[in-house]
Amino acid sequence: MSRLDGKVCVVTGAASGIGLRIAEVYAAAGGRVAIADLALEAAERAAASIRASGGEALAVAMDVTDEAQVVAGMAKVVDAWGRIDVLVSNAGIQIVNKLTDFSLDDWRRMLAIHLDGAFLTTREALRDMEKRREGGAIIYMGSVHSHLASKLKAPYVTAKHGLLGLARTVAKEAAEYGVRANVICPGFVRTPLVEKQIPEQARELGISEEAVVKDVMLKDTVDGEFTTVDDVANVALMLAAFETNALTGQSLVVSHGWFMQ
Ligand code: NAD
Repeated sequence: MSRLDGKVCVVTGAASGIGLRIAEVYAAAGGRVAIADLALEAAERAAASIRASGGEALAVAMDVTDEAQVVAGMAKVVDAWGRIDVLVSNAGIQIVNKLTDFSLDDWRRMLAIHLDGAFLTTREALRDMEKRREGGAIIYMGSVHSHLASKLKAPYVTAKHGLLGLARTVAKEAAEYGVRANVICPGFVRTPLVEKQIPEQARELGISEEAVVKDVMLKDTVDGEFTTVDDVANVALMLAAFETNALTGQSLVVSHGWFMQ
């Protein structure tokens, strides 16, 4: 198994779903994990549970759209552990609606969480990594929607495509001090984010919830299976532990073959 012994890892949106599993897997691999989330109580519970299993974890209150909170949260991690080696920019939400019904507020909220959040956390992590020049890994939680579009998801698809551009730019700018930047692109994973979408999509598309799962979400997979939080966390571990700039500026699609590049 890949190891992260002593590496300081910040995972945003790690109080739930994919981010939570990444935090647990990183801690089990020896990483020191900062659970950065808007939901502070849930982040504290997650950190306590990791510590109870012998891992090192710290909860950090952070709204990734708020510059002051990101700066303070990343500084808290550096104060506690002296450095940042790995950033997983994972916090995200979903709002589904027809483009013609989207409000500008909802559009801006989506871009703020997915893109402003990725930019702000990356900037703070890179400021530390550039100073130390000891390498590091930046991992963005993209989606199959970084490569494909679906109806009703205009801001999500736009933002997830945007993360590819950010990762490629970071890969170029930060290579000189050994930092790699990559995007993980999961298919549908049954987290609270997806559970919420099933009835919403059923309503919007006028079909049953079962049909949303079978005929919309998993229709183009090779085996009709959901991707799991473990599938995504294992790829996140591999990307965090990878040792050279050979693997940078890439997107890894983990989707049961829904999208093949
Ligand atoms: P989730 O709802 O289970 O967890 C998201 C976490 O992000 C929550 O803990 C929430 O409190 C936190 N969060 C939300 N807004 C925040 C903010 N402004 N600042 C800090 N934290 C915030 O969702 P998930 O399914 O685990 O999604 C995690 C990431 O994976 C998202 O970026 C999502 O787009 C991406 N993704 C999910 C799927 C899927 O099918 N679940 C597929 C592809 C990509």
